[in-house]
Amino acid sequence: MNAQLRSLKELQDIDIVWSDVNKEINNINAKIDGKARELEETRQRIEILSNSIKEKDLRKKIVEGEIRTDDEVVKRWEGRLKEIKSSREYQALMREISLTKKDISEKEDIVLQLIEEIEKGDAELKTLQEDYDNSFKIWNSENTGLIEKIEELRNKIKNNDSKRSEILKTLSGSLIQKYERIRIQRDGIAIAEAKNYVCCGCNMNIPPQIYNQVLKRENIVSCPHCQRILYVPEEEKMNA
Ligand SMILES: [Zn+2]
Repeated sequence: MNAQLRSLKELQDIDIVWSDVNKEINNINAKIDGKARELEETRQRIEILSNSIKEKDLRKKIVEGEIRTDDEVVKRWEGRLKEIKSSREYQALMREISLTKKDISEKEDIVLQLIEEIEKGDAELKTLQEDYDNSFKIWNSENTGLIEKIEELRNKIKNNDSKRSEILKTLSGSLIQKYERIRIQRDGIAIAEAKNYVCCGCNMNIPPQIYNQVLKRENIVSCPHCQRILYVPEEEKMNA
């Protein structure tokens, strides 16, 4: 193979590995982030629920305090009843007592309702917290493996830059430009094999005179359809 072409092929091979490895690293990171987002959602639900329980508990305490005050008032009024001589005054105080007792009973209903809601909330909170703790544990242990995997992948391309610059030294500037341009336009593949008069990059037929030029390996030849630089593997020449 033409030395330039061989270098280009080598360049493409390491660029493909680099791009595949980075895609894989991005996928792993997306997986870690996705799970972290899920965990954060659960954590927020726990916070909202826990605040709502606290609020209800506070309301319960306030209403219970009101009930105690009302109870004392009723007791005081009931004590006063014995001292009242006027029947009209007696009736009026009795009505007040009855209204306050009704009020107390309504407040007691509110407290019962709040107790029920708090108990329900506590149970839900417990389940959520357990879910969160379990998911966090799993996420944490899975992460260790995933982070190791990322490290492993990074090692795979650790020498990428130095290998690349070594290869670039052997290529002309215009050829590097051409390679980069086609690589961007053609989804990372700038060098394609030519096989049986077909470009393996775009699967279109290559005219015989162009195919023969590729076989000669003297010049850089591009596919007339996709512009990818064409090559034939070494053994192909023997058969041609
Ligand atoms: Zn092509």
